[in-house]
Amino acid sequence: AKLEGKNGLFFYRDHLRAAAEENLRLEQLLRESLERGEVDLNYQPIVALDSGRVVGAEALLRWHHPELGQVEPDRFIAVAESSTLIDELGRFVLARACHDAAAWQESCPGLRVGVNISGRQLLRRDLVHLVEQSLAESGLPAACLSLELTESSLLHDRDLAAETLLALRQRDINVWLDDFGTGFSGLNHLRQLRVSGVKIDRSFVADILSDPDDLALSSAIIAMAHSVGMRVIAEGVESREQLELLRDNGCDLVQGFLLARPMPAAEIAAFRPEPGLF
Ligand code: C2E
Ligand code: CA
Ligand code: CA
Ligand code: CA
Repeated sequence: AKLEGKNGLFFYRDHLRAAAEENLRLEQLLRESLERGEVDLNYQPIVALDSGRVVGAEALLRWHHPELGQVEPDRFIAVAESSTLIDELGRFVLARACHDAAAWQESCPGLRVGVNISGRQLLRRDLVHLVEQSLAESGLPAACLSLELTESSLLHDRDLAAETLLALRQRDINVWLDDFGTGFSGLNHLRQLRVSGVKIDRSFVADILSDPDDLALSSAIIAMAHSVGMRVIAEGVESREQLELLRDNGCDLVQGFLLARPMPAAEIAAFRPEPGLF
């Protein structure tokens, strides 16, 4: 038994070392891909539940490596976040998303773009400057840019987060709270930070038809958000039944495979949801 335990420890150590090496290799490959233009953004439409109008689209990173193939964003973003690569990746995303959304303005004035900001990016003092620079270079109006921040990223350095959010709001840039319901932020805290609204995490939307607790929670989030003047996006809407339930509960905006999968920037301006849904 003792011998087994010893072997087990060796296996565990080997496993850890292998995982660390794999992460380093991924980081290196991602760095090269970023330089070679193998990293791209797709956009998923965000639709108003009352009218079916497309009001914006969320930018989502896509990495296609010639040998590895398609790598999942959750995987490679975690790798980038554990190094300084997230700074370069973040700069790329902001610049590209503003550039793409500026091109939509001609045929779809006011159409917004949502950009995910990682916790590490929020801790950088130059985030506001970087955002301003991307807006200036692209010509995108500030009101057409929404930043999506997660609850946990607001908790690392509360003072810096509050300061950054205020600076963004003063510049007319909207901030939304992503993955809402998975953390612990009270809505009052968010109201003080002048967040525009919250995105109900897809894990809740997935179960609203089958789990009364998830429906109750989603419905409470919507009611409370409205009571403090914030709006609500439900993400991960996959069925007509979910859409209708969210509408009955007063949700403002929806996003999910039922409406559209993420698509290339060039397809966004012409996209309309299936009319039967609204
Ligand atoms: P997220 O911000 O919660 O983005 C929503 C995720 O849900 C996306 O996954 C999207 O493709 C997926 N999704 C949308 N509708 C549906 C649906 O109806 N059903 C299902 N099953 N999934 C749906 P994706 O593209 O794999 O991105 C995963 C995560 O990676 C994102 O979660 C976000 O946290 C992160 N991410 C993606 N792009 C960026 C980026 O540019 N910067 C940063 N910092 N993070 C990013
Ligand atoms: Ca998001
Ligand atoms: Ca989410
Ligand atoms: Ca559940």
